[in-house]
Amino acid sequence: MRPSLAAIAAELQGYDPQALRVDEVNAFLSRLAEPVTGQEHIDLFQSLGRILAQDLVSPISVPAHDNSAMDGYAFRGATLLPDRALELKVVGTALAGVAWRGELGPEDCLKIMTGAVMPNGLDTVAPQELVTLEGEHISIPAGFLRQGDNRRFKGEDLEEGYAALLKGERISPAALGLVASLGIRQIHVYRRLKVAYFSTGDEILSLGELPREGAVYDSNRYTVFGMLSKLGCEVIDLGVVPDDPVLLEAAFAEAAERCDAIITSGGVSVGEADFTKAMMKKLGDVEFWKIAMRPGRPMAVGRIGNALLFGLPGNPVAVMVTFLAFVRPALLRLMGSTALLPPLLKAQSLETLRKKPGRTEYQRGIVSNAADGSLMVRTTGNQGSGVLSSMVQANGLIVLHHQQDHVAPGDTVDVMMFDGAI
Ligand code: AMP
Ligand code: MG
Repeated sequence: MRPSLAAIAAELQGYDPQALRVDEVNAFLSRLAEPVTGQEHIDLFQSLGRILAQDLVSPISVPAHDNSAMDGYAFRGATLLPDRALELKVVGTALAGVAWRGELGPEDCLKIMTGAVMPNGLDTVAPQELVTLEGEHISIPAGFLRQGDNRRFKGEDLEEGYAALLKGERISPAALGLVASLGIRQIHVYRRLKVAYFSTGDEILSLGELPREGAVYDSNRYTVFGMLSKLGCEVIDLGVVPDDPVLLEAAFAEAAERCDAIITSGGVSVGEADFTKAMMKKLGDVEFWKIAMRPGRPMAVGRIGNALLFGLPGNPVAVMVTFLAFVRPALLRLMGSTALLPPLLKAQSLETLRKKPGRTEYQRGIVSNAADGSLMVRTTGNQGSGVLSSMVQANGLIVLHHQQDHVAPGDTVDVMMFDGAI
């Protein structure tokens, strides 16, 4: 049985929907969002960004043989002399992809190419640049090499029978290459999440509509579309829905029918909450929160049918910040990802930042390297929750934690870099 919101709330110490801390929101959401179970078996080229649904066990070792890390000469490392150059006779060439077979005397060596299988008994490679070649003989100067140098071991990257990738890992470009190096063409991934989004508000214009006084173009639909797409979700766009109970109810019903999660913006602030609240409660199990944060604060969360609901505030920056802080981690969990959130970085603030203890604040920051290579951060200026240009200019959020007070220039602050998230 899935826990009800009331059951989750009862487990959280001191839960107060009127004054939730940011960490309590995430603790709540991590209990609410249960990973999907559906899987697909898909081609590697289709799997970038998807979440692995089963451990991927190596069917082979990579590399499959001990091999040379350099172009040079392979020989027995035990014959190296501490104080005298080693003279060897070149009796053949080992090319990559062709195993060299033959007998080697104690003073013989082989010319060898990078990646070529180490011939039996040879364990060390002298790089080409190090040796002097005279006719069929080489001379390796003393003091530059130790036994075993420039040899790669069989299985040093991946060992046969062991998990090369774990269930829950996101397929990155590096993981794509790793899977390919095992000779595997198809992998099991969790199915993609379907997420529906609509904007609410009588004052919200869709693109293509003529401007009118007091109305604003719908930007949240685009930022949310972009952030969901970056996560690899299938996005279902349900447009703009006016503040009309009948139309809103129909939109929620359609979204719940088709999707794993529903995201809305607008209509959850104090002045508006009442009729939306009644309607959402009628349709599902929904809580209305006031979160101790800025920007953000009001948010509705719950389930309608089988879909998770995230009712975000309307202000464009608040939408992006609440998405990054809460919705993104919850959706990653729903997708089956086991990834940890990226670490916060420390940067020296170049400015005074006004802040009261008792709420978490997210200021838009521009992080760069100081002359000594350490990180420094300045804000983008006006931090109004409608100033979307601040999100465009920023490369991360300065996170001023719940109990933190004013920041003076030179103080260290935490920053959450956007990286690939937005
Ligand atoms: P609300 O949360 O509905 O009170 O909206 C707060 C502010 O965000 C108001 O100024 C709205 O006009 C604005 N807003 C709400 N939804 C959108 C949207 N989809 N695109 C741009 N601005 C919006
Ligand atoms: Mg509104």
